[in-house]
Amino acid sequence: MVERQLRRRGIADERVLAAMGEVPREAFVPERARRRAYHDGALPIGAEQTISQPWIVAAICQGLELSGDELALEVGTGSGYSAAVLAGLAREVVSVERFAELATRARTTLAELGFANVEVRVGDGSLGAPDRAPFGAIAVHAAAPAAPATLLGQLEPGGRLVVPISGRGADMLTALRATEAGIEERVIAPSRFVPLIGDEGFRER
Ligand code: SAH
Repeated sequence: MVERQLRRRGIADERVLAAMGEVPREAFVPERARRRAYHDGALPIGAEQTISQPWIVAAICQGLELSGDELALEVGTGSGYSAAVLAGLAREVVSVERFAELATRARTTLAELGFANVEVRVGDGSLGAPDRAPFGAIAVHAAAPAAPATLLGQLEPGGRLVVPISGRGADMLTALRATEAGIEERVIAPSRFVPLIGDEGFRER
């Protein structure tokens, strides 16, 4: 997976490649999908949600330019897989999931694997985690209508936010950085994400 799906497709950050190689992806996939755990795609995890494709997790982590001492926020815990990868790249991770059922399962898996630096919360992650802000890095795993202003406001100076911004045909995975001059923005790649549902996301259908 690391060589074929990630390095060959432009993931060059060695810390990200190492972290992706260390997390057992099969532990985050439901029993019936386990033999497909390392396939180059997303897989169903219940509540109509999916565990992200490995390349997407790597691209988001690379876009965050983590050095290892950051307090990181994640929006969209899902299976907990991306939180585990992030936990290997940052000092501490606060991860928010809107479905309690998924958050509970992710919490259990992360605890079983010994990840002690991840806190999983249930709630609307589009509003961030004001009690823990500011963050050095924020990863959003669901497509937002625009870069959520509240999340941008929870970045420390120099902090990075990676978020898919919803578009016609494709969502644009975008990296934003808080600088003294304002917000710098760079598109990473087009892809497809489930919608961010919440106050600074979309309305539930
Ligand atoms: N990164 C996860 C997969 C994320 S899929 C993994 O590796 O398994 C996107 C997740 O975002 C879904 O679980 C969905 O329920 C969640 N989500 C959508 N809107 C949200 C919101 N406003 N706050 C928190 N979670 C949200």
